[in-house]
Amino acid sequence: MRTKKVKAAGRLRAGYGKYVRGRITEIEGKQRKKQACPYCKKTARRISKGIWKCNKCGKKFASHAYYINK
Ligand SMILES: [Zn+2]
Repeated sequence: MRTKKVKAAGRLRAGYGKYVRGRITEIEGKQRKKQACPYCKKTARRISKGIWKCNKCGKKFASHAYYINK
């Protein structure tokens, strides 16, 4: 259920403050975009938290848990 200002984070119930929900919405927004490999700038895929693998050059690298830092 997606409601109100917090968008997708609306699924979280009370106990997570508004601030936290905002953070989640922000992170999920980044997550939905394609993540660029820092080596060749092609699309990278998240293998697990903080571990990414590039589709193009096959390199694995560590970054943020949910998106790649630029
Ligand atoms: Zn690459």
